[in-house]
Amino acid sequence: MGDAMTIADTLIKNILADHPLRSRDMDPVPPDSAPLDDLLDPDFFLDGPDIEVFLDRAPDSGEDFPEEPGPWSVLGTYHHMASPGLITLYRRNIEAYWMSLLRHARRQFPFITHQDAERMLRLVTHSVYQHERFHYLCDFSRQLLGGQFDHWHEEGLAVAHEWHWQKGQAWNSDSGRMHPSLRRIVMHTMFNHRGRGYRDWRQYAVLADFHAAVTAYLGSHVSPTLAGTAFNLGAWLVAHGADEGNKGWEERIL
Ligand SMILES: [Zn+2]
Repeated sequence: MGDAMTIADTLIKNILADHPLRSRDMDPVPPDSAPLDDLLDPDFFLDGPDIEVFLDRAPDSGEDFPEEPGPWSVLGTYHHMASPGLITLYRRNIEAYWMSLLRHARRQFPFITHQDAERMLRLVTHSVYQHERFHYLCDFSRQLLGGQFDHWHEEGLAVAHEWHWQKGQAWNSDSGRMHPSLRRIVMHTMFNHRGRGYRDWRQYAVLADFHAAVTAYLGSHVSPTLAGTAFNLGAWLVAHGADEGNKGWEERIL
C-alpha cells in the first residue's frame, strides 16, 4: 500500500491531538504503578451516538455530496471523476464512530488500554480510507474499460475490500497488536453491516470469490482475448488501480 502519508494519517493525528492518550512508548509508566494504570478512563468516550447508527449506511460513491458531514454514518465519500475523483473523510463522524465503537467494545471487554484505543482509531480510519479508494478504483476502471455503475453492488465489494485489506495487514499492524478479545469485538462490529448492498460483503469474504466478483463487475467490457487468459483482472485492479505514485484522485478532510 506504500508508505506515503495520506489523509488517513493526517486525520488520525488531528483527532489524537484533541484526545491525548498516554502512550507507554513515549511516557513510560513508573515501575511501581498499578498494573491497570494504563486503562482508558470511561469518561473518555461518553459522547458519540449509539453504535446501531453506523450499521446501516447509504451509498457513499456518486456524483453529488453536500459540502457538510451529513448524518453520523457518513464516514467518507467518493465523488466520481469530474476529473479528478475526490475522496473525502469526515472528521466529526469518524471521531464519533471511534467513540461509539470504544463504548460498545468496553461493555464486553473492560480492559481497553490507551494504546488499544489509538489502534482502534487507526484501524477505523484506514478502513474508511481503503473503502473510498476502492470506489475510486471502480470509477477509474470504468473510465478505462467501460462498464455500468451499480451502487448497491459496489458497496458490498467495497466492504469486502476493507476486509481483505485488514486480513493482508502484518501481525505487527494496528489490529495485529490489539488485544485479541478486543480485536474480535471491533472487527465483528465493523463488519456487522445490515444495510442493503453493504451486508452482501460476506459473499466475497474468500479472496478468490472477491477477485472473481471484481473481475465480473469491472471487466465485462474487457476484450475476449484477455478474458481467455489466466490473467486475473480483479486481483490486478485491486493491487494497482489506486496508484499512490500516479493518482487520478484528490483527497481531503472535511
Ligand atoms: Zn461505499
